[in-house]
Amino acid sequence: MSKPHAENVVIVGTGCAGLTAAVYAARANLSPLVIEGPLPGGQLTTTSEVENFPGFPEGVDGFHLMDSLRKQATRFGARFEQALVQSVDFSSTPRKLLCGERTILAKTVIVATGASPRMTGIPGEKELYGGKGVTTCATCDGAFYRKMDVAVIGGGDSAAEEALFLTRFANKVYLVHRRDSLRASKIMADRAASNPKIQPVWDSVPVEAVGVPAGAVNGLRIRNVKTGAESVLPVKGIFVAIGHVPNTAPFASALDVDPSGYFVPIDGSQVRTKVPGVYVAGDCADHVYRQAVTAAGMGCQAAIDAERWLAEHGG
Ligand code: NAP
Repeated sequence: MSKPHAENVVIVGTGCAGLTAAVYAARANLSPLVIEGPLPGGQLTTTSEVENFPGFPEGVDGFHLMDSLRKQATRFGARFEQALVQSVDFSSTPRKLLCGERTILAKTVIVATGASPRMTGIPGEKELYGGKGVTTCATCDGAFYRKMDVAVIGGGDSAAEEALFLTRFANKVYLVHRRDSLRASKIMADRAASNPKIQPVWDSVPVEAVGVPAGAVNGLRIRNVKTGAESVLPVKGIFVAIGHVPNTAPFASALDVDPSGYFVPIDGSQVRTKVPGVYVAGDCADHVYRQAVTAAGMGCQAAIDAERWLAEHGG
């Protein structure tokens, strides 16, 4: 009986890490199969202007960057398929990726599943998410809030960036943060502080997205953590920008993860895992840098390691 077909390299994820791994693996003639999940192109497709990706002095649109990277991988023979990996079996070779009815067999695997936006969990958030006023993406939804007041929750670079982007459309942007200063980088914090449309709301936590009975946001209830006083910001849009959760659950039983869920590579490598021939790359394995360029670098490392592993163990 002939052996079932096992792919040389299966790359899970099409963000910066996955697509860079695809370019390298494809250019090494490995004909990688790239599994595309729920957010093709990854988080950068939800970013407007990427100003710090090397080689683009004027900045580059996130969607355009990812589209170009995909074309580059395709040009060298990467194949793309839409699927959701639900669980894996890495206990034998070839490695198994279970996607609903389908099982994909792979000699090597590169997991580059990225991270998803963290939500606050306040009442009303879930009910009013997506088209009803609660969102995690100013680039995608900002234009719906022309001449309205909106709130951004968070104090990091994402929150500052979202707030700045929203000033293009919104009348006023409340920047709600639980501390009395932003943790964003100085350049982003300075830009946010000097924008007259942005009003910081310090020492405040969100308590409720108001508007569930009407089916649309008409306020954000907040509590001042120092005084305990509650008030409602009269906003039509709530942009949640409080960080991310790594998309590692389907792999967590087979690979090492830290208490926050991020993959932990073996000592001496950023991308090798305890399972031979299985690699991790990008935001799912990096809670420190989380940049497009560092994710791309990890994707490159993972593809080169996979190529070497195949050369050694039979491709
Ligand atoms: P982050 O740096 O982890 O910041 C998350 C923010 O949300 C923090 O201010 C945190 O408050 C707040 N927060 C967390 N949980 C909360 C909750 N339940 N309720 C209220 N507030 C909550 O995440 P990020 O801003 O997404 O940035 C992630 C990484 O990407 C960083 O390394 C950042 O530099 C990078 N990044 C860079 C750019 C750029 O350079 N253009 C743009 C976006 C992101 P505390 O401050 O109290 O912890």
